[in-house]
Amino acid sequence: MEENIIARAESLRREVEAVCRDAGRDPASVTVLAATKVQSAERVRAVLPFVDACGENRVQEFCEKYDAGAYAGKPVHFIGHLQTNKVKFLVGRCDLIQSVDSPRLAKAISDRAEALGITQEILAELNIGRDENKTGCLPEDLPELLAAVRVLPGLRLRGLMCVPPRGTPEETAPWFAKTRGIYETYTSEWGFDTLSMGMSGDWAAAIREGSTLIRVGTGIFGARI
Ligand SMILES: *Cc1c(COP(=O)(O)O)cnc(C)c1O
Repeated sequence: MEENIIARAESLRREVEAVCRDAGRDPASVTVLAATKVQSAERVRAVLPFVDACGENRVQEFCEKYDAGAYAGKPVHFIGHLQTNKVKFLVGRCDLIQSVDSPRLAKAISDRAEALGITQEILAELNIGRDENKTGCLPEDLPELLAAVRVLPGLRLRGLMCVPPRGTPEETAPWFAKTRGIYETYTSEWGFDTLSMGMSGDWAAAIREGSTLIRVGTGIFGARI
């Protein structure tokens, strides 16, 4: 079992390099994040040499694995829906909170960071496909979220994250292109350096559309039970 995971993580790394070269991009410009939800600390540890970061979806699961030393010092991101009352468990321990989608959540994170005397790095999550079943800020609400973040002293906003509606890479590519367009509107003003898009089924399309961070779960660990 562990051997399969290691082999898949290794080959993912090689494939990412090949796609980057093919797209005329430096492989070092793409962060490979292992989406580690439901995976044991042991399985997480097995892939650490082949990935740049881990990402968790649930606060409690993050806390359990963090306390068990599962990430062994690798950067760990939060990529799931976050409630304001759970913010205290993440701020200062999680390297990047990718799923900030409201001024209220941004303020809760900033307040906690200020209380700890630190700056918390975040991404704004966009619901680019206006999917009713998904969280994330609607594109027309992004200016309001950015205006809120601008005056919050505890945050550093590094860019955007999106999870487009499910589909083939041909179907998700236009959503990635649209997200990249919005990202580029703000890049120089904000000093953005992180555009998080692409999962197991469509990470290659996302890299071709300018992603700087792909989030891969089943492509490394196999199907989640
Ligand atoms: C689970 C998850 C992923 C990885 O999904 P796979 O299809 O298993 O690669 C990526 N991003 C988010 C936000 C997730 O929740």
